Amino acid sequence: MKHNDCIIIHYDEISLKGNNRKWFENILINNIKKHFSNLPFENISLKSARLIINKIDSNQIDLYKESLKNIVGTSSALIVKEIEQNLITINKVCLSMITAYKPTSFRLTTKRNDKNFLLTSPEINSKVGAYIQSKINIPVNLKKPEMEIIIELVDGKTYIGYDKINGFGGLPANSNEKALSLLSGGIDSPVASFELIKRGVKLDFVHFHSYPATKKNSIHNVEKLCQKLTNYQLDSVLYKVPLLEIQQNIMKECDEKYWIILFRRAMMKIANYLAKKNHTLALITGDNIGQVASQTISNIYATSDSSELPILRPLAGKNKNEIINIAKIIGTYSISIEPFEDCCSFFVPENPIIKANLNQIFKYEKKINFNTLFNNTINQIVIKKFKA
Ligand code: ATP
Ligand code: MG
Repeated sequence: MKHNDCIIIHYDEISLKGNNRKWFENILINNIKKHFSNLPFENISLKSARLIINKIDSNQIDLYKESLKNIVGTSSALIVKEIEQNLITINKVCLSMITAYKPTSFRLTTKRNDKNFLLTSPEINSKVGAYIQSKINIPVNLKKPEMEIIIELVDGKTYIGYDKINGFGGLPANSNEKALSLLSGGIDSPVASFELIKRGVKLDFVHFHSYPATKKNSIHNVEKLCQKLTNYQLDSVLYKVPLLEIQQNIMKECDEKYWIILFRRAMMKIANYLAKKNHTLALITGDNIGQVASQTISNIYATSDSSELPILRPLAGKNKNEIINIAKIIGTYSISIEPFEDCCSFFVPENPIIKANLNQIFKYEKKINFNTLFNNTINQIVIKKFKA
């Protein structure tokens, strides 16, 4: 049977984009080209709200699948055989797929976008299903089939495949403005970052460390997380900021109840500096209301007070289990749970303040001469770049 191996991608929110749709489609197409920069294909065409990646190499299917899992802004992707629109050929391709796969049950799902084909979608399902069952004895299971074969009729062609890859939805990476994400190495901040990557926000990352008081592994963990997240947004910059001098001064001069909140405010001021320098207008954190003492509404207020830029907190209302589930799916969980000493938890006092008082905070910040410390710190920032 003559056929081409292709990939058919359904995009997600782009379909709601009205006049701007073309612009978003082009960004998604360019992203796909970058994700596939080491994999062969002939071209990418656009057919009825689907992207078709034409003529892929059928010997490298697993590599295409791995790359497809990193593309955001899509609702699904399917590796397919492209054939002509005729029932005999459709029958043969479906039968050969099912004979090779040997499932214990199957179903057919047809989407007939092309109304020129005479049979409707349910008619195609039942005719092809009957043909398969006349050749081999495998039951149909509509609810929980082991194998679902998808048949799409689009623009004069038929596309048939199985093992659909569900996308993350949202918008294509890098289709929105920039934000700077505060990445700690824990479970939450990588998930918070991902939530905005799939809204198209282009992220830079900043990590604050207490080296040499803490070991270098917090920095290594964050670099691994950055690499994972970069696989979704293609390229990133990480700013590594030494916080130890500021922390030591805070710990020398201030009541230990206020240490964490003062560390956080210092982080915010440095993050504001970095963001503004790079024309970036928002910060992102993995704050989650009520999770730890620094994440009360009062403390979020006291932390936000030190930031001129808005702070996006996409995880504010999520439950821990929901966050962990996303972390597992996006591949950051196993890195986040590797042991490391976080710059704040390393110096965490027994009873951190739950409702920080701003006047008290201002007095402490005057006492430690924050401005001089700030200048010393920003001079020691190290930059690392990542590519998918
Ligand atoms: P995470 O799981 O992301 O570490 P957390 O539950 O431990 O979060 P906190 O330690 O209160 O919560 O940190 C809240 C947020 O502040 C983090 O999600 C992150 O965005 C930011 N943050 C904390 N520590 C650092 C750090 N060392 N470097 C950069 N950002 C940090
Ligand atoms: Mg943490």
